[in-house]
Amino acid sequence: MSQIQVAQSKLETLKKEALEKIQAAPSSQALYQVKVEYWGKSGHVTEIMKEMAALPKEDKPGFGKLVNEVKQALEEAYVKAEDGLKVKEIEARMQSEELDLTLPGVPRAVGSEHPVSSVTNEIVAILGRLGYSLRQGPLIESDFYNFEALNIPKNHPARDMQDTFFVDQTHVLRTHTSPIQVHVYQSEKPPLRLIGTGAVFRCDSDISHLPHFHQIEGICVDEKVSMADLKGTISFFVKEFFGASLAVRFRPSFFPFTEPSAEVDCQCPICKGNGCSLCKQSGWIEIGGCGLVNPKVFEQSNIDTSKWQGFAFGFGIERMAIIKYGITDIRLFPENDLRFLGQFVTGGAL
Ligand SMILES: [Zn+2]
Repeated sequence: MSQIQVAQSKLETLKKEALEKIQAAPSSQALYQVKVEYWGKSGHVTEIMKEMAALPKEDKPGFGKLVNEVKQALEEAYVKAEDGLKVKEIEARMQSEELDLTLPGVPRAVGSEHPVSSVTNEIVAILGRLGYSLRQGPLIESDFYNFEALNIPKNHPARDMQDTFFVDQTHVLRTHTSPIQVHVYQSEKPPLRLIGTGAVFRCDSDISHLPHFHQIEGICVDEKVSMADLKGTISFFVKEFFGASLAVRFRPSFFPFTEPSAEVDCQCPICKGNGCSLCKQSGWIEIGGCGLVNPKVFEQSNIDTSKWQGFAFGFGIERMAIIKYGITDIRLFPENDLRFLGQFVTGGAL
């Protein structure tokens, strides 16, 4: 036999062996090993190309072509066998890993917003539709921002209305959110519609008072602002927040930073004014305080009182949540008992 015949016969034998092994491969992994062994980088068929060097020059192109044809035939057989094996393997896996889609899933604990957060967000969203936007301020305030600038000078009896935590001689944990407006007056120019909200602190603790609670207030500063505008704003807010047209009434009151001042009552959202335990059978429920901004407050911040007027109103967030959800004890808010918080989850349970 000539050299070329020997090489061709060797190639034929390799091809036959490889095809048999492809057919017999029991898994796609075993099949891949056949590929590596025969026509991989250092497989038998690839290696045979080296023998070309010894062939007569005229036989070289023909033999090269033949090797490529064999490789191609093996690759085609490989792809076909691989498809078949993969289908079989998936079927086998599906049978061995029985998946019952009708089994109930693993329940997941769904978190929820704290009612203080959700009520805050709701109030901010309602007032946002009237053009009010949110501001925040520091929790520790100087005496000036917490008292002086809000028309509560030293030795003023109104300071006793707010049982204050003192940080040092001149700083307090803010007793209300009203200092926020003072910061705004110093950095922004009227007209203004702002919401101040956040935590406030007072030395007070019983079934209806917490030493750490939350307030929200709205301030409108413009050229012509009246009690009628204030009442209209609060009526709109009550309707949106409680989801019903409830009557609103003002009772004269006193706050150093507003003049005139009023307490705001709305018809009890539970009994709609007929009398129930929440409203102590009166049909009315107190929701907050309000008034026209005292010009002395504007003067402290150099706002021209001959041009600008304002109204302010404020609510306790916990109190609004108590009224809205019929909560009986304000101390439930900071306890973070999941049995309490879980009642405010929408679309799931804790
Ligand atoms: Zn009632």
